[in-house]
Amino acid sequence: MAEARIIDGKAVAAALKRRVADAVSGLEAGHGLRPGLAVVLVGSDPASQVYVRSKGRETEAAGMRSISHRLPETTSEAELLALVRELNADSSVHGILVQFPLPGHIDMGRVIDTISPDKDVDGLHPINAGRLAAGMPGLVPCTPLGCVILAKHALGDLTGVNALVVGRSNLVGKPAAQLLLGENATVTIAHSRSRDLPGIARAADLLIAAVGRPQMVRGDWIKPGATVIDVGINRVPAPDKGEGETRLVGDVHYAEAREVAGAITPVPGGVGPMTIACLLANTVRAACAIHGLPLPDLSVAA
Ligand code: NAP
Repeated sequence: MAEARIIDGKAVAAALKRRVADAVSGLEAGHGLRPGLAVVLVGSDPASQVYVRSKGRETEAAGMRSISHRLPETTSEAELLALVRELNADSSVHGILVQFPLPGHIDMGRVIDTISPDKDVDGLHPINAGRLAAGMPGLVPCTPLGCVILAKHALGDLTGVNALVVGRSNLVGKPAAQLLLGENATVTIAHSRSRDLPGIARAADLLIAAVGRPQMVRGDWIKPGATVIDVGINRVPAPDKGEGETRLVGDVHYAEAREVAGAITPVPGGVGPMTIACLLANTVRAACAIHGLPLPDLSVAA
């Protein structure tokens, strides 16, 4: 069998970002509205610093206003919640993202609950999670949104497709499953207590892996010709590159999966770039909803 087609997340993300940039210039020209995204980072986790920097850069590249708040590790929960309330009230801010993980003394749930659901561009507020579950419009978490765009890019209409989501986190697994259900797929959700995961996986036409375990999904778990979306980002030792070197791998064993799957996302260059593009798209959605404006077309051609 031929090797799987590679789903180019970078190219799809670039197309979505172009859509967002066009929408932003339309909002500015037509309504004098410049969407603003506020990103809050607490502490100095190196990976989070990289993410926050690139979010700021991409926000500006799309023509939006980027507001960044970097707070010390010692920031109290009350101080962080006060900042979130300030951003909720700031009419130049349309999206608020608090970068996770937070230091251990801050309760993540309380932070999420404090963000205005209208500005919750991460889609994690219970009101937005409830809207998604009820099939109502709302802000949807960026990573699963990116996964479903890539799945549709590879497969077209997802109606009746047997989809498996491995992982049930509020951030990825659960919203991915809800979105797939909204696309009329037949959805199975697997997790750490599922029995015979390889057997379940072999029935899936579409497999989304969001587990956080490097290369857990093996080639012989995959139905020949299936579409595989790998959400995992795991840093593992790479002694072949030199002592102390590392590389990024997904939750899927890429080399094995490529021999069996019909289409697959690489890591890096698959879901990762989509997450940030969807964050920018969510900021435009939030700005339009707050101002009662119709949502510009942000769909990307397959
Ligand atoms: P998480 O909150 O740790 O959730 C992991 C899920 O995987 C849980 O539901 C867990 O099941 C399940 N799981 C763990 N071990 C398993 C096993 N052996 N068999 C089956 N299921 C198992 O992680 P997450 O936030 O969803 O993230 C998942 C992965 O995506 C991570 O690698 C993360 O780095 C990556 N990620 C990437 C992006 C991106 O932009 N590309 C964004 C977010 C996350 P239980 O519920 O039973 O414990």
